[in-house]
Amino acid sequence: MKWMRDNIKDLKEYKLDNDPYRIKLDANEGENFLLKDLDNADMKFLNNINRYPDSSRQVLKEEIGKYVGVNPENIITGNGSSEIIELLMKTFINKGDKVLSFIPTFSMYSIFTKVYGGEFVGLEGQEFASKNIGPRDDFSLNIDLLIEKAKEINPKLILLCNPNNPTGYLIPSQAIKKLLESVDSFVIVDEAYIEFAEVSMVAELEDYQNLIVLRTFSKALGLAGLRLGYMVADVNIVKMVSKVKAPYSLNALSQAFGLMALKNKTLIHKYVENIKFEREKTFIRLKELGLKTYPSSANFILFYSQVEDLSEKLKSEGILIRDFSGYLDKYYRVTIGNKYENSQFVKSLEVVLKNEKS
Ligand SMILES: *Cc1c(COP(=O)(O)O)cnc(C)c1O
Repeated sequence: MKWMRDNIKDLKEYKLDNDPYRIKLDANEGENFLLKDLDNADMKFLNNINRYPDSSRQVLKEEIGKYVGVNPENIITGNGSSEIIELLMKTFINKGDKVLSFIPTFSMYSIFTKVYGGEFVGLEGQEFASKNIGPRDDFSLNIDLLIEKAKEINPKLILLCNPNNPTGYLIPSQAIKKLLESVDSFVIVDEAYIEFAEVSMVAELEDYQNLIVLRTFSKALGLAGLRLGYMVADVNIVKMVSKVKAPYSLNALSQAFGLMALKNKTLIHKYVENIKFEREKTFIRLKELGLKTYPSSANFILFYSQVEDLSEKLKSEGILIRDFSGYLDKYYRVTIGNKYENSQFVKSLEVVLKNEKS
């Protein structure tokens, strides 16, 4: 640990399991429905692979602009929206600056805050009775609590994951607008799952100079392996963040494939509708099985189960889901996959629950 920067000494490596599986429902990935029929003509861009990629990413930004309804000047693309979260910390965080967010939420927010010497302040979305055993009634988020906290600690950045990972809760646009009007901070709304909810804050950008929206190709577009994310914000913010961006972080393959993916926009709507249908079916089934479930506006469902090592037991059936033991003991997040994957998950879950009873 010699010479390591003080603020990263306590951080842990972001490790992911490499377990063998039949059905993978642990990382909120989607299906590759946009880039499955490529042919040789689509690979023509490889003729220029000896050149550095287009560092302005202009064509891609134009296509993304059409997809979300903004001008290319309002967009920064990155190597996944994870890179953009890091870029925002790089741009704005001095040592000791505060970053405020509701918890539980996406772990990268606190990790990147700490890497850049900031102080992460996580706020529970509700005031819970402290000795509460058993599952929570809900994971709703009270924006007034956040506004109150912001006034007290004066954070430079406020991060909202909307819909929230891992709970699926969606903060209504009205509440986010109230926040934007009440604080002096930049408000970053991470909309990684917004296609499954349909209330993007992108439409509000003209009215709020302190609003930053993050989006990604990893979830509703089913292209997590492409590593393509983007930020939409006022041009002044785009200018600041551009200063710290490495010119070629987004490689030529991601740019080219991202462009091709957006040629099939009508498929996205169809895919999203199917996932929403499957989500409601799975939600009802989990409830019927007696599990505490939380309504979700994303492509996953959080649920609670008293069964010891539930995720390990499912893993032995070849089914991967996400286990939150540690911070959220006995809570599990299952990604909504296609009809077959979901039914396989439910089937194995039924077996596990039955074995517990007998
Ligand atoms: C999956 C996810 C992302 C996407 O990250 P990429 O780097 O774009 O793959 C961003 N934010 C949240 C909350 C997520 O769950």
